[in-house]
Amino acid sequence: MTGPGDRREADRDRAADRDRREDDRGRPDGGNAGRDDRDDHRDADHELRVTKIRNGTVIDHVSGGLALTVLGVLGIDGSAGEVVSIGMNVPSDRLARKDIVKIENRELSQDEVDVLSLLAPAATINIVRAYQVREKHRVDRPAQVSGVLSCPNPDCITAGREPVTSTFDVLDRSVRCVYCETILDADLTDHVDIG
Ligand SMILES: [Zn+2]
Repeated sequence: MTGPGDRREADRDRAADRDRREDDRGRPDGGNAGRDDRDDHRDADHELRVTKIRNGTVIDHVSGGLALTVLGVLGIDGSAGEVVSIGMNVPSDRLARKDIVKIENRELSQDEVDVLSLLAPAATINIVRAYQVREKHRVDRPAQVSGVLSCPNPDCITAGREPVTSTFDVLDRSVRCVYCETILDADLTDHVDIG
């Protein structure tokens, strides 16, 4: 039985769906935007999952399930007392499911952003100060990364005693050592060497 009331309800559901989709687009920071951005109550869902942070970095739109890898790559394991919030497999319009990582009192270096761009090309990085997003970056895959990955080839000049900084050309789905042309792809995270 379908009456006018049911139709109205269906309309309302569709409108709510639309709102949720727009929410996801309008909130690439995962709920850490200022109140001038959009209505606060719309974001209640995000708020419950991961609280706002005062100062630090929010890495949003990380592919679902990769949050712990991202933390590992950044050298964060909690042993230094870092305050970290993680949302894993949060429903997302853009990625189907995504992870969100919030790290308090830490702003990422360019080297760290470069490595993230290889692991999580869809990620957005938000620098938060006093609860407001001050800087928002989509990670760009750089043409080259230097000093953030180590070459697995033991004969590579970067593996020897020479003070040569490892450098890789960034390809579509992999990176290639500019010295010995060794390709790194799936096991990229095993070769991260920041600092
Ligand atoms: Zn090499």
